[in-house]
Amino acid sequence: MTIRTRVAPSPTGDPHLGTAYIALFNYAFAKQQGGEFVLRIEDTDQVRSTPESEQAIMDSLRWLGLNWDHGPDVGGEFGPYRQSERSDLYKKYAQQLVDNGKAFYCFATAEELDQMREEQMAEGLRPKYDGRGLKLSQNEIEANLAAEKPYVIRMNIPAEGTFKFNDYLRGEIEIPWENVDMQVLLKADGFPTYFLANVVDDHHMEISHIFRGEEWINSAPKLLKLYEDFGWTAPTLGHLPLLRNPDKSKLSKRKNPTSINYYKEMGFLPEAVLNYLGRMGWSMPDEREKFTLAEMIENFDMKRVSLGGPVFDVEKLSWLNGLWIRENLTDEELINRFVDWKFNGETLGKILPQVKTRINTLSDLVELAGYFVSGMPTYAPELLTAGKAEEDVIRQALQFFIWDLEALRTWEKSEIFAIAKTLADHHELKIKVFLEPIFVAISGKTSSTSVIDAMEILGSDMSRARLRVALGHIGVSKKQAKKLEKAYKVYQAD
Ligand code: GLU
Repeated sequence: MTIRTRVAPSPTGDPHLGTAYIALFNYAFAKQQGGEFVLRIEDTDQVRSTPESEQAIMDSLRWLGLNWDHGPDVGGEFGPYRQSERSDLYKKYAQQLVDNGKAFYCFATAEELDQMREEQMAEGLRPKYDGRGLKLSQNEIEANLAAEKPYVIRMNIPAEGTFKFNDYLRGEIEIPWENVDMQVLLKADGFPTYFLANVVDDHHMEISHIFRGEEWINSAPKLLKLYEDFGWTAPTLGHLPLLRNPDKSKLSKRKNPTSINYYKEMGFLPEAVLNYLGRMGWSMPDEREKFTLAEMIENFDMKRVSLGGPVFDVEKLSWLNGLWIRENLTDEELINRFVDWKFNGETLGKILPQVKTRINTLSDLVELAGYFVSGMPTYAPELLTAGKAEEDVIRQALQFFIWDLEALRTWEKSEIFAIAKTLADHHELKIKVFLEPIFVAISGKTSSTSVIDAMEILGSDMSRARLRVALGHIGVSKKQAKKLEKAYKVYQAD
């Protein structure tokens, strides 16, 4: 049997460190045994999936050096590797489950299900789908179908008993069936949910082992039961620990940048990022801190992954990156890295139009435009609130700006400006006043070249990281955070 693993990201945002971590471990496991590694794009969520995100995920995995044998862009014998291109397959298999009594139609409307949940809660019960679709007679089902009533297909889950499975990393895990809902497999729009598509694809792509994040453990009974229902042999399943912030909370962008692009823009080397991810829950037999991907593969043993939440600490990564720079690159190679990174005509070509009218000597450039190639600018935090707007207003405007920018698909200055203008109006600020703290956050100074142009040049990840650092300087208490979330919902609904 060919050892074949995969990483199956959903293209719904920035390329996440967690995706790279899962990809790395699946990659190392497969390659150590001469196997294959697959990239599958799970884009069944039609609303949240974007081609930009898919491209960014592929670019960053490639940047790290994790190349796939089969994938949407390279093809492969079990393709296509993008779920949105496999819809007919899922429909066929959903129907097969219905025909075999393993799944059923449910015609309940959203209102009916809301009412069901309200009644359950009023009785002090945990809200849960009550199996009403199972009670329909064949005649009722046929009449509903003939009347073209919208329906979903749900999985038939036993009412009692316990599901047991053997996790490759965690041993036997038991989950009572009563904690498992009758999962929707095919949605009213004819698209599958994660569960159906994931099982159908892992089976057809002949995936032998699945290693994924521990947040998916609770979905294991549904997935493994689906294999049984189809009469297929399930791949071996193992759940890797979640990456954590230094305070042990789940790695989140509020506390640590999580987008791989950010690390690229900051000037981390891909080898060092990969090396550090390889140390998340795993170590070389001789405990050495610095190792290459090839060395990791050679020594890899999934059974040695420790499950206590590994901490992703940017300071440690910086230290390791420094070792890589000093010990592994000749001066010549380092020059090439600088050139590939930002010390090149392309970057200068973007910066020059911003500064040309303001410089008298070439050396003026560094003072004026150094922030285009720096990491986080340093400045006195008071500068952020030294402008005309009140601190409370700045806090909210900055937070809304960050959230709006997170959702922005194409990073262009006209779009960034449109968001800034709308937010300035919403906060009853002149655009100039709205931009005062943004100037500081982005450039570290109270005045500089056009800040919106600068954001376009710096890119989404670096700009947002700088804005987040600024928001951190202003400070957001838990109470304020809640208030901001509420206010943002109201703002978005307007
Ligand atoms: N699409 C899922 C994700 O975004 C895949 C989970 C799995 O590996 O089964 O992580």
